[in-house]
Amino acid sequence: MSDAKKPDHVRLFIPGPIEVRKEILDEQARWMIGHRSSEFEALFARVQPKLRQVFYTNSRVYVSTSSGTGLWEAASRNLIRDDRKALHLVNGAFSERWAAVSQANGKKVDVISVPWGTAIKPEQLADQLKKESYDAVAIVLNETSTGVKNPLEEYVPIIKQYPDTLILVDAVSIFGGYKIDFAGLGLDMVITSTQKALALPPGLAFAAVSDKALERAKEVPYRGYYFDLLELENFLIKNNTPSTPNISLMFATDKQLDYILAEGLEARFARHEQMAQTVRDWAVEAGFEMFPEKGYASPTVGVIANTRNIDVSALNKFLKGHGATINNGYGKLKDKTFRIAHMGDASVAEVEDLLKTVSQFLESVPV
Ligand SMILES: *Cc1c(COP(=O)(O)O)cnc(C)c1O
Repeated sequence: MSDAKKPDHVRLFIPGPIEVRKEILDEQARWMIGHRSSEFEALFARVQPKLRQVFYTNSRVYVSTSSGTGLWEAASRNLIRDDRKALHLVNGAFSERWAAVSQANGKKVDVISVPWGTAIKPEQLADQLKKESYDAVAIVLNETSTGVKNPLEEYVPIIKQYPDTLILVDAVSIFGGYKIDFAGLGLDMVITSTQKALALPPGLAFAAVSDKALERAKEVPYRGYYFDLLELENFLIKNNTPSTPNISLMFATDKQLDYILAEGLEARFARHEQMAQTVRDWAVEAGFEMFPEKGYASPTVGVIANTRNIDVSALNKFLKGHGATINNGYGKLKDKTFRIAHMGDASVAEVEDLLKTVSQFLESVPV
């Protein structure tokens, strides 16, 4: 490859962090402003309505200087009373970890667990809710380890039969690539972080929170300090945050949200589904199978079963020479699967280009 053609960086097709456009990276190089200044309040006030649009809520979106994991802790700690229980839906590594976070915060947890690669079915949830009452159901909408999208919209009417049960949603690896209608569905907390489908650098996490969830938090005496939702609320109404936020990333967020809203949310979601379908079609064509059970494959991360037993490390080495990288499977699925993240600002053409390069590699190895 000639130097002129040599890519200047490796484009990330891993499920976070992902490729961030240079223009957005550059926003982080602005001069600092004080976080108690009127300039910061104006920045916060500019970002807030845009975040609310993307979350489909009119109430509030908290800004946390942490990764998404911090807001797992916020949800578990603030919204589950000590003498009550939460129900965690577990079908992969991230949903498993959120249940562990609840337990690490001293909360009592029940789990509905299904094999990796499958989704939790609405009937399983309905059966469990008949047996026991819960303060909250914790759902990982998009299991990044397996590429399964759980049927959130089907869960909601089932959980709504129990008005005391809050609906908590981890949307970390899907938010910005799929419509999550916070107000329309009547969700209580939806969590995401910047480095996945929002196509921003890592370092901030966002959560839409319902009035009902805040009422619940008032009944929990030990909500911790850094992730106390009631404190986040006290500052949000003043267009601010309790402690010093990642101001540079707030600048980048402000600009990226303009870009996202200019594309149009519906168009953005359609592009994600198109990228996902491109990967699914290619996988079958190339003699692989998708890892998720049929009908539940994610719109943002393609997890492909390595049924051809290819050397995924060799594939990734080849890809890096072409300026791209994918992931070789999560945890126990390492090398048994590989993961192609098709999220953020990537175009269908860019995904097609990547797949073309993967096909070139496959032609060089025996079937
Ligand atoms: C990446 C991810 C997380 C963890 O988010 P961080 O921002 O890395 O803390 C949680 N849940 C899901 C589904 C994820 O994909």
